[in-house]
Amino acid sequence: DPSAVLRSGLMGLSRNTKVRDVVEKAPVSKDVVKRFVAGTSTEDAVRVSRELDVEGKLATIDFLGEDTLDRAQAIHTRDAYLDLLAELADACLTDGGRVEVSVKLSALGQALPKDGRKLSLEHARSICEAAAIAGTTVTLDMEDHTTTDATLETLAELRKDFPDTGAVLQAYLRRTEGDCRDLAYEGSRVRLCKGAYAEPASVAFADKGEIDMNYVKCMRVLMEGEGYPMIASHDPRIVEIAGSLATKNLRAPDSFEYQLLYGIRPNEQQRLADAGNQVRVYVPYGDEWYGYLVRRMAERPSNTAFFLRALSSR
Ligand code: FAD
Repeated sequence: DPSAVLRSGLMGLSRNTKVRDVVEKAPVSKDVVKRFVAGTSTEDAVRVSRELDVEGKLATIDFLGEDTLDRAQAIHTRDAYLDLLAELADACLTDGGRVEVSVKLSALGQALPKDGRKLSLEHARSICEAAAIAGTTVTLDMEDHTTTDATLETLAELRKDFPDTGAVLQAYLRRTEGDCRDLAYEGSRVRLCKGAYAEPASVAFADKGEIDMNYVKCMRVLMEGEGYPMIASHDPRIVEIAGSLATKNLRAPDSFEYQLLYGIRPNEQQRLADAGNQVRVYVPYGDEWYGYLVRRMAERPSNTAFFLRALSSR
């Protein structure tokens, strides 16, 4: 299976520090990284947030890192978010949720043996507190299917004190239509994406047509529901259907939003915003960009095409 060979090759690359050093220093990769990642520092994240704000777009900022089994690293990630939220608030970018943050529980220690779930909940709670003080919100990214239940349970805990904490649901999972129904209540912020991890057929659709069909089913549930749908896709057909569903359900432009990744289809991001829609750009920053890009490409062959396509398109 050629895709398995590619996958294991890329997985190896993601761990090879010599290759990493070379790739990080190559001038071309600097351009590639600049295209998809704000930079390595808090200041970079604030600068890009300000640029997006000036262009009339919202942002959600992700401090890169995931899957940590190191307690100190989990604390470092929490502190990076606390610092980021303070800096964003100082720059007057957070009020009304204009710039919020996206958080991976695995980066906050969810997978640590013994008390990982408790620890990641505590860390996420601190980040939610800082976000509330700054006048903004937190969205919990969704990771591979073995963590879905734990992440939704953590979400429910956080929503007791911070009801505007956002969830992510992945349309490639067979369970997701049901999860959308459960989460389509008033005040519930749900980001719907296709899903970026390699998943077994027992839990996920593999065929693109099936994933897209399920996306539309799930989107219909969210758009017809009482919550706040966040349509995260670069797919022109999905974006178009989202617009028709919003019209059909008499949704005001401020009752849902489109979300796209930083650097992917930037002209489309601006077009949607200029047409009066709310558009939120997902902006990753931090040192861990290499693992992020390479691992995403290794997990699903379509992710590799996804990043390559962005380099040749606007
Ligand atoms: P695809 O199926 O990849 O592409 C469909 C069509 O869109 C293409 O045929 C093409 O016409 C167009 N298109 C796509 N990419 C490009 C491009 N680069 N340039 C030009 N046209 C293009 N995944 C998770 O698992 N968990 C998360 O928490 C998560 N959060 C996300 C947050 C946001 C804001 C976004 C946008 C995505 C997130 N994802 C997340 C990733 C997501 O699951 C998909 O892997 C990713 O968005 C690709 O799917 P797609 O819907 O954009 O369309």
